[in-house]
Amino acid sequence: MSPQHTEFVKLNEPYVASFGDKGNLALPPAKKLIVVTCMDARLDPAAFLQIKEGDAHVIRNAGGVAREELRSLIISQRLLGTREIAVIHHTDCGMLTFTSNDVHSIVKDAAKGNADVAKRVEAIDFLEFKDLEESVKEDVAWLKNQPLILPETPVSGWIFDVKTGKVSQVA
Ligand SMILES: [Zn+2]
Repeated sequence: MSPQHTEFVKLNEPYVASFGDKGNLALPPAKKLIVVTCMDARLDPAAFLQIKEGDAHVIRNAGGVAREELRSLIISQRLLGTREIAVIHHTDCGMLTFTSNDVHSIVKDAAKGNADVAKRVEAIDFLEFKDLEESVKEDVAWLKNQPLILPETPVSGWIFDVKTGKVSQVA
């Protein structure tokens, strides 16, 4: 299989053709909203929350772990005017299926005897979680207690159901 990127220019053409006036959008998000969610390929936050271009910052990582994103959250709030944060984790998340030790072993086994690789990967906490609802509540609590997040920020926590497409508030 050839790398996907060889198709990018072709795949982009219909989008460019219908781009319209989106080139006039302002840099600061219109809804002043940050959504932190998982990188899971089944999640389309723009679709399930009706977020359009220019509306919000959608920050994604493995699990949608907010405490990994302090740098982006500060930039979003202080430089680009966002004022609300929603954390959205989801059912069937891969983060429920492994431990950091598992990932350490996988990486180390693939580089047998390489002490530098071992040391580097062991320094990484992969921030996995065992309980989905707890993981959302912990993230929301962390944001509410984080001195570098604006104190008046409304922070909510959600679970997206990959079987139904439905969001439920849990914090
Ligand atoms: Zn996930």
